Amino acid sequence: MKNIYAIGVGLIGGSLAIDIKNNNPEVVIHGISRKETTLDEALALNLIDKKATLDDIAHADLVIVSIPVDATVKLLPTILDKIPDTALVVDAGSTKLDICKAVENHPKRRNFLAMHPIAGTEHSGPSAAMSGLFVGKTNIVCEVEKTTFKLQEKALKLFADIGMRIRYMNPEAHDKHIAYVSHLSHISSFMLGKTVIEKEKNERDIFDMAGSGFASTVRLAKSSPEMWTPIFKQNKSNVIETLEEYISNLTHFKDMMKRDDFEGIYNEMKDTNYIKDILKGIS
Ligand code: NAP
Repeated sequence: MKNIYAIGVGLIGGSLAIDIKNNNPEVVIHGISRKETTLDEALALNLIDKKATLDDIAHADLVIVSIPVDATVKLLPTILDKIPDTALVVDAGSTKLDICKAVENHPKRRNFLAMHPIAGTEHSGPSAAMSGLFVGKTNIVCEVEKTTFKLQEKALKLFADIGMRIRYMNPEAHDKHIAYVSHLSHISSFMLGKTVIEKEKNERDIFDMAGSGFASTVRLAKSSPEMWTPIFKQNKSNVIETLEEYISNLTHFKDMMKRDDFEGIYNEMKDTNYIKDILKGIS
């Protein structure tokens, strides 16, 4: 593998570029983005070796697509049109069904591998990229059987080299499960932030008391709306289902409060402490 093209050089694309380059110093990482200034920043931060344009992927051995999921759906067929027959294309999008559907009948479908690295932070753009982001993290790979065996092997070695373990899933199951563990967590954090901001007009008070659970619970509300809006749009029905269950739990909690049912509240929290066992070993 010699020429790697990173389409999107933000948190995920930039972090993948750093780790792949560290493991394979001989490769040339070419960056592609919408804005020239983003590429300049990526170059200055040494995330990429060279700036490139979409037409240049005709020379690619590997293309890594790490842009918002609506942009991926639009661009992926064109990317497959432009690559040579031997190249591998992977995408890092947080939804998988619409992305897989966008290329299901493409003549070069077998050059594409759909993945979702379960790693990230609330920060975005090239300056958020970091080395080691993927160590010990899970990479969900969808429809692996639709990728040629040789390119599967190439991809799996690449992921193993940057410290990821693989979990296989179909895109429907991926989108359903991820709605609970990731998409709902983000909505809940955004709406917690909104509730507190609206109530506590004096931001100094929020800041002074943020050492409580607030700062860690609201961390995800710093995430990029540009990235998250298309995720919620693509996963609408699953996200609405999780919201209905979540709102029902909130309403139940409020009802117990109104009834002075503090034994019920105690038991609810005691049962939910089981989350400690579920999350054991996840840093
Ligand atoms: P990010 O830091 O905001 O970077 C995305 C980059 O995509 C931006 O720098 C933007 O560059 C570029 N971009 C936007 N629209 C584009 C387009 N139409 N064509 C080319 N470039 C475009 O976002 P990220 O966190 O790396 O997320 C990238 C992908 O990874 C998303 O699909 C996301 O769902 C997925 N993902 C995110 C996380 C996470 O925790 N953040 C985790 C796993 C997977 P410009 O400045 O040039 O517009």
